[in-house]
Parts: sequence; structure tokens; C-alpha cells
Amino acid sequence: MSVKGKTAVITGSNSGIGLGIAQELARAGANVVLNSFTDSKEDHALAARIAQETGVEARYIQADMSNGEQCRALIEKAGRCDVLVNNAGIQHVCPIDEFPAGKWDAIIAINLTSAFHTTAAALPMMRKAGWGRVINIASAHGLTASPYKSAYVAAKHGIVGLTKVTALETAQEPITANAICPGYVLTPLVEAQIPDTMEKYGMSREDVIKKVMLERQPSKEFATTEQMGGTALFLCSDAAAQITGTTISVDGGWTAL
Ligand code: NAD
Repeated sequence: MSVKGKTAVITGSNSGIGLGIAQELARAGANVVLNSFTDSKEDHALAARIAQETGVEARYIQADMSNGEQCRALIEKAGRCDVLVNNAGIQHVCPIDEFPAGKWDAIIAINLTSAFHTTAAALPMMRKAGWGRVINIASAHGLTASPYKSAYVAAKHGIVGLTKVTALETAQEPITANAICPGYVLTPLVEAQIPDTMEKYGMSREDVIKKVMLERQPSKEFATTEQMGGTALFLCSDAAAQITGTTISVDGGWTAL
């Protein structure tokens, strides 16, 4: 079984890891549905470019992953969902006692609760099609913690738990559910953390990358969006049919420390 002709819905995929996974799945022949909360010409052009480059059907569907009804509507509008990649995510870095409650709620909604809604909407489609893959993009922060990332670490540990439950509920069906746990990948989400950290510690950009971000990543290299796409593609392969309810770290050794 390959992903050729299957439909993959990737939440939060107009940039970064989501876009990397969409491109990799499209290159392997899957029809892809891109998503974010915006609805710009660039968003639709991105889908058109993937379609042109790979020959698959690629669509962009706007839906705000902080809203449960819109999460479910995304899957309904896709019409089919053989591969669900729950990737949409945001970050906010701040000590717990100063952490804005609104930011906490938004991170839990987008990084965790959205996956509950999309999975609930997609499983009946996968069952009907007789095959399915749920791939949740967690993080090294789904397995370990860092200070000042309370909501993010809570959401990512939560999505690892949701992954296990999804796997158990589908264990006797041709459906698997797994979480990919990236270490640092240089995407807009990570790029946005650099200026604050530079200011906070009075460091250069290079030092923030080496001494703060990659400090816990033993390889001292960022992981790449292409590697995330390749891992997602592997999870869709027959070789991965008995891999379910687990986490796959792509973190340069972070969680081995
Ligand atoms: P990114 O900012 O490039 O991408 C995040 C995506 O989510 C974007 O497409 C954005 O538009 C979308 N998004 C944000 N809010 C949304 C909403 N309300 N509704 C729909 N879409 C929304 O960041 P990224 O680094 O590619 O992150 C993707 C995922 O990977 C996240 O879940 C993140 O936590 C996880 N992750 C990233 C890293 C890293 O180092 N970059 C490491 C571990 C895990």
C-alpha cells in the first residue's frame, strides 16, 4: 500500500513542518489538503504550485484550528481523509506566574484540542475507506520539559496521550496513530523565538542558536522539514503497519540525554 491516490489533510500547512510534510506526501502521489486560519491568495497559490510540481490534486481549505467546529468542518470539506496530520501549533514562552491565560487557552486549543476534533471527524472516513493513518506532530517537549513553556509542554504531552488512545481504539483495524517528536527545526515558529532570546540574554543570533536552542540537541544541527516529511511518509508505508501508539523522535539525540 502506498499513499498514491490517497488524500492527506495536514493542519497548519501553509508554512514550516506542515508544508514540508504536505510536499513530501504530494511527491509520493498523495492528494493533499493544505490548511491554516488565513485565506490569502498566497495560501491558494501554494496549493496550486504543489499540484503543478507533483501532478496530484492539492487544495487549500481555510479553517481556524482554535475552533472545534471549524476543525471538524475542515475534514468534512476535504470529503475524504486517509492520512490525517495534526500539525497546527503555536508557542508562547513565559514563566507560569506571568503566563497570560488567553495564551494558555489558545495553545491548548490549537496544539491539542484541534487534534481531538479532527481525529473524531476523520476516523469514520478512514473506517469507511478501510485504511488510515493519524500522524500527530508532537515535539521533544511531548517527552521532556523546558522552563517557561508550560502550555506548550502540557499540550505536547497531551497529544502524545491522545495518540496512544487513538491507537488503542483502532488497534484491530487497518489504521495506525503515532506521534512524531521533532527537536528544533528552523521554521517560522522557531525563528520568531530568536529575537526575544537575543534580547533576554544579550546574545548574538549565532549564540542563541548554538548555546540556547541547540544546547540540548546533541547533533548540534537543526532537524529539517524534509526529514519530518520523510518520517510521515514512512509511517504511511506497509513497513509501519504494526507501528501504532508510539512516538518517533527526530531530534538529533535530545531525548537520549
Ligand atoms: P510554523 O509557525 O511554521 O507553522 C505552524 C503552522 O500552524 C502554520 O501553518 C500556521 O499558519 C498554523 N497555525 C497556527 N495557528 C493556527 C490556527 N489557529 N489554525 C490553523 N492553523 C494554524 O511552525 P512549525 O515549526 O512548522 O510548527 C509545526 C508544528 O511542529 C507545531 O505543532 C509545532 O509545535 C511542532 N514542532 C515544531 C518544532 C520546531 O522546532 N519548529 C519542534 C517540535 C515541534
